[in-house]
Amino acid sequence: MVARGATRTGSGQRLVLRPGYLSGRCLSWGIGDAPSTPGFLRSWRWSPSEGARAVEGRSSRVFLMAMGSGLAQLDGYPFEVRYSDGSLMRARAAADVAADAYFYLGRLFSGVELDIALIVVDQAGWESRQPFGLPFFNDDDGQIRPGILVMPDGSGDFWIAIGQDIHEASPRGYARLRATYPDGAGGLNLQPFFDLITVHELGHAFEMLGDLRLPTFWLGEIFANLALHAFVATRQPESLSTLEVLSTVGTQSRRLGARMRAEGYSTLEELEAHYTGGHQPMSPLNYVWYQYRWQRLAAKVFETDGENGLVRFWDCFRGTDRLNSGKITAAALARLLGTEVSETLGRAVRNWR
Ligand SMILES: [Zn+2]
Repeated sequence: MVARGATRTGSGQRLVLRPGYLSGRCLSWGIGDAPSTPGFLRSWRWSPSEGARAVEGRSSRVFLMAMGSGLAQLDGYPFEVRYSDGSLMRARAAADVAADAYFYLGRLFSGVELDIALIVVDQAGWESRQPFGLPFFNDDDGQIRPGILVMPDGSGDFWIAIGQDIHEASPRGYARLRATYPDGAGGLNLQPFFDLITVHELGHAFEMLGDLRLPTFWLGEIFANLALHAFVATRQPESLSTLEVLSTVGTQSRRLGARMRAEGYSTLEELEAHYTGGHQPMSPLNYVWYQYRWQRLAAKVFETDGENGLVRFWDCFRGTDRLNSGKITAAALARLLGTEVSETLGRAVRNWR
């Protein structure tokens, strides 16, 4: 296993593994990718040895080849697109939706232009400590572009676990999922939903590269979900049920909610404390449950405030630290959000439990 310290490339050039690389921030729809993430994954199906291998693979490769650099390139988009062998169709689907959203969100966010790459990889090419199937955005140094959006080609165990979690909690809810995301063989195919999640990751790209200074992780997730919801509702309304049914079913199940509250975490403070692992890390499925709730909240905010709510969100935090770090509490944020972004959002944050 490669640890922090000096390493050597094939050409004999000596490079130092920057601590910053391993502690870099990586945002995803599902879970955070932080230094303590292997602990975070302990409750997941990854064995500690697999986690270690993933860390090793990524740490050594960053010097020899940044993720996506060896892959085929797809031209014709306002950002770089790379894809694994056999993933052309998936890459095109993700790039099409991302390109639409790129222009849509760029217009709302004062014409910000992003320097990003969209990388669509199969399971063999997946380089993350997160389970395969979970899209993510990463803005660590040393990537092929300042920001990369990594999307999976193929589902993997994680999507299956999402379906099983709901199946156990709510057979009726699961039936609704099957009707919305049919795989043609009586099962579930969440691909169309995750295609839309490309826009959530693009929201993180605007957040991170556009200098949006959000004081908490969870606020970044709400922002990305609001960007996604606004895009789908405005530009692709025929996909609203694809976007909304999973989170609707996921939040409607009382049994799922009760189990999460009993076995995991539910408050925003707990999320902030356990999101990146450390002591008693959150399980990825617990985190997905938060995502369901944030997605429903984003829909409600859009319903009351429309695009203006998203623009006010952007303007409120762009290039400025609105709360000093000693005073970041959900209550303080709720006040700020309620007065400057959206009353609906402020109220939801204040009443969140
Ligand atoms: Zn996210």
